[in-house]
Amino acid sequence: LTDTPPTLEAAAERMRMLFGFSEFRGRQADVIRRVLDGQSTLAVMPTGAGKSLTYQLPAAMLDGTCVVISPLIALMHDQLRAARANGIRAATLTSADADWRETMDAYRAGELDLLYVAPERASQPQFCDFVTAAPIALFAIDEAHCVSEWGHDFRPDYRQLLPLMERFAEVPRLALTATADKRTRADILAQLGIPKEGLVLAGFDRPNITYAIRHRDNPVRQIATLMAEQPGPGIVYAPTRKKVEDLAQKLAAATGRPVLPYHAGLPPEERAANQAGFVASEDMVIVATIAFGMGIDKPDVRFVAHAGIPKSIEAYYQETGRAGRDGDPAQAIMFWGAGDFAQARQRLAELPEDRRSDERARLDMLAGLVETSGCRRAVLLRHFGEEPEEICGNCDNCQSPPKVTDATETARKLLSAAYRTGQSFGFGHLQKVLTGARDARIEQRGHDRLSVHGIVEGEEAGLLQPVSRALQARGALVPTEHGGLALGGDAPKILKGEQSVEIVIPPKRARGNRRADRT
Ligand code: ADP
Ligand code: ZN
Repeated sequence: LTDTPPTLEAAAERMRMLFGFSEFRGRQADVIRRVLDGQSTLAVMPTGAGKSLTYQLPAAMLDGTCVVISPLIALMHDQLRAARANGIRAATLTSADADWRETMDAYRAGELDLLYVAPERASQPQFCDFVTAAPIALFAIDEAHCVSEWGHDFRPDYRQLLPLMERFAEVPRLALTATADKRTRADILAQLGIPKEGLVLAGFDRPNITYAIRHRDNPVRQIATLMAEQPGPGIVYAPTRKKVEDLAQKLAAATGRPVLPYHAGLPPEERAANQAGFVASEDMVIVATIAFGMGIDKPDVRFVAHAGIPKSIEAYYQETGRAGRDGDPAQAIMFWGAGDFAQARQRLAELPEDRRSDERARLDMLAGLVETSGCRRAVLLRHFGEEPEEICGNCDNCQSPPKVTDATETARKLLSAAYRTGQSFGFGHLQKVLTGARDARIEQRGHDRLSVHGIVEGEEAGLLQPVSRALQARGALVPTEHGGLALGGDAPKILKGEQSVEIVIPPKRARGNRRADRT
């Protein structure tokens, strides 16, 4: 214990020998120095920043084994192969490993630098007993956002890790994640007993990614246009398996490019084949549910498109972060519809009471990103606690600033119409009533005699649709089970004039010519 810890210079030398890297990148050195000094650390670094090195290198240098908690067997096996290729003595202990006896023997004999386990196993008392057989140098907790209920991918097994780590209280912990906002970070520190000063936060900016968010009117045409501009590999995220299959087929037909589906419902062989095909290809597009992407190392993905809204800003950042890892220009483009938010808000009702407000807050933040007229990158980076420039010059809003219109009056008219017609009619009917149309349904219900009938005229009529979308995105209009629109959220405040509604009118785009709107 009186041994002095290895120096950073020694670590750099060892890195050159084992990994062949000439220098540390970003904040790797800060993390590695802390780990070598035995200090618990939370490293928040974007995907591709090189988190693995921050535990693999200390593992190779320190006495004892580094126990790595990792959530996916596939991910572990990738890491294992990479570590072994660099001459690091590594093993995995999973249900998929036939050589578990040898692994356990090697561990007991102190012959392992790295031992990968899943949280389910690591949290069991038997595992705790087993690892006492040899010294542990470090606990590395990969994908550490899974420990937090506030994180976007909470896994209860991660919560059960604390007894193991408390049993070896003197062993430092290194938690690693690519996506954790302020709250998630605080939660991880508390859950894993890492001191506040142990947080090492690397930059989140991905300057080579161009962000754009557009309303979805015809996803096949919109994504086909994107594919025509971007001949390289791309990922299209779709919300359901059915939509994945449907889009993959239509995009292939529309573009003549290789387009394959990927979702958890496909036979495992087909899934694996499609993934392998994608990784090897220079022009394939994969249409996938969010089941796709974790642990896939494909640096030359040229675009990531969302055919529906992601779950949260964290999820959006992580999913779009798979584009352009090679540093070359790449595009992240989301096509959203008001119905996406409406459905997500409906699902809130199915959640247990205590999770609802967190999830609602998450949706509100995502709606903020979608609706902003300002810089998308600035919204993203602020979300992760950075203080970015107001204008990045590399997102849709910076390149062609949209028009912002105060549409509070129109919003009030639309909300009143929904209210006065009994909160059970859809947008089409409300639009007809407001613009003074008469049809059998309107006359039958007496909606032509309402004070709101015909109060929207001329140009204002064109605002109704975007206003309806904006109100649905923020939850002031919520769809009912029968396809009607009811008031919700801040609707009363808007009606009383206590809250304004601004809408963003996207600039007219020359179809199929993206450059036109940059100049
Ligand atoms: P993360 O887990 O943060 O997504 P990885 O650990 O998978 O990132 O590393 C991403 C890539 O960067 C890998 O190909 C890795 O070999 C490479 N890499 C990591 N550290 C360095 C470094 N110091 N110099 C050069 N390449 C590095
Ligand atoms: Zn910008």
